Amino acid sequence: MRIDVLTIFPQLFETIFNWGVISRALEKEIIVFEAVDIRDFTDDRHRTTDDYPFGGGSGLVMKAEPILRAVASRFTENSRPYIIYPSPQGKVFDNKKALELSKLNHITFICGRYEGIDERVMSVVDEELSIGDFVLSGGEVPAILMIEAISRFIPGVIGDMESVINDSFFSELLDHPHYTRPREVNGIEVPEVLLSGNHEMIEIQRRVESLRRTIERRPDIFLKHEFDLSDKKALLMLFEELRKDDE
Ligand code: SAM
Repeated sequence: MRIDVLTIFPQLFETIFNWGVISRALEKEIIVFEAVDIRDFTDDRHRTTDDYPFGGGSGLVMKAEPILRAVASRFTENSRPYIIYPSPQGKVFDNKKALELSKLNHITFICGRYEGIDERVMSVVDEELSIGDFVLSGGEVPAILMIEAISRFIPGVIGDMESVINDSFFSELLDHPHYTRPREVNGIEVPEVLLSGNHEMIEIQRRVESLRRTIERRPDIFLKHEFDLSDKKALLMLFEELRKDDE
């Protein structure tokens, strides 16, 4: 997959993708990434990318032409990228959207700054995506966040695809708690079942914990969940545990 970001701060991406899972995907060329400097597409001596808003008011607006030229530079003879504008006004990005976008060949993110970008750039934008109901100073962090989440679904990026499948939201439930050595930390023991070697019981218990967490933390997700047989078995065990706690 090709991913590029159009930004006035290309340096921001230099260190972040030098580490971890994404750096390995770049090394293996599973992902080809480019941070494109919008200033390279300006046509004045000062490389100006922003200007005052028509109609007055506070703040600056990113100019349309340099962005549109930067976008055009991403087109090839036969294809155009899917163009995303990270924006607090967009639909909220989630795991489903990450999975959907991971199937594309080429994505371009346009990173806004200041009050945002000139509205006329929207004529080339395919989708506005928000990372939540808060406002950041720029689209670079949202783009990094989305690239991380999208990359996890690209085959070969995460060595063990099972861990992606078991992550929160993929199965539409939150992930179960995880433990590693030692067996005891500050008097808190690893749950006995995880040491039992009984894989069927371990799976059921993990499902119980996933359901418990989802009910406690995200009842909205729990209410939408479609229960399969293993969920139903786990739910019965959870009810039984809760009944015993009540007695
Ligand atoms: N005036 C804009 C508004 O109220 O919708 C906010 C502009 S914000 C200060 C500057 C840039 O940061 C935006 O153009 C966008 O690219 C990015 N940004 C800020 N918050 C975001 C969020 N929650 N999700 C995605 N992008 C965001």
